Amino acid sequence: MTGKGHRISTFAFVIGATGSPLAAVMSFLGSTFPDSSEYTFFGKRRNRYHRRYTHWFIPWLALAYACFERSGWIVPRISALVDGRGAHRDVWACAGFWFMGCVLHILEDAFCGTVPFLRPWKRDVGIHVFHMSKKIGEMSWGEKNFVLCCAGISFIAFMIRTFTVNSFLEFCLNIWRNI
Ligand SMILES: [Zn+2]
Repeated sequence: MTGKGHRISTFAFVIGATGSPLAAVMSFLGSTFPDSSEYTFFGKRRNRYHRRYTHWFIPWLALAYACFERSGWIVPRISALVDGRGAHRDVWACAGFWFMGCVLHILEDAFCGTVPFLRPWKRDVGIHVFHMSKKIGEMSWGEKNFVLCCAGISFIAFMIRTFTVNSFLEFCLNIWRNI
């Protein structure tokens, strides 16, 4: 998947799941790290190791888990960070969501190719929901649709969290009354 595809679908997924813009931004920032770190670790030999050690979900998930554990499993709040008092839990939560961005990156890659499962040197799990464009950095038709579906589902989830059924009905009734 392209960097753009990773950023959009990860942001959408996290905001849909948590309703927190801060958590979504942190995951957005982490979402391209498994690819970009390959350049740092392997440089020119990157192709030989592409989607192997850096795309093994276990260490990323363990780091995310450790950070969430330290945060007390909260969703980070901007207000707490600005206030500063007791903000260390929110900082841990931010780090946790950054690592979740890496985990989601790997999950997204598994929809268009293969990634390691238990052995980090072997790419052995994945389904081809869509194919990537031959041009590097270009989003294929399938990838655009995949990203659009992620964003759509997350938007619905976000709306459901924001509006309960009753408040949504009231919202509609108010519009109706004011027409
Ligand atoms: Zn990747």
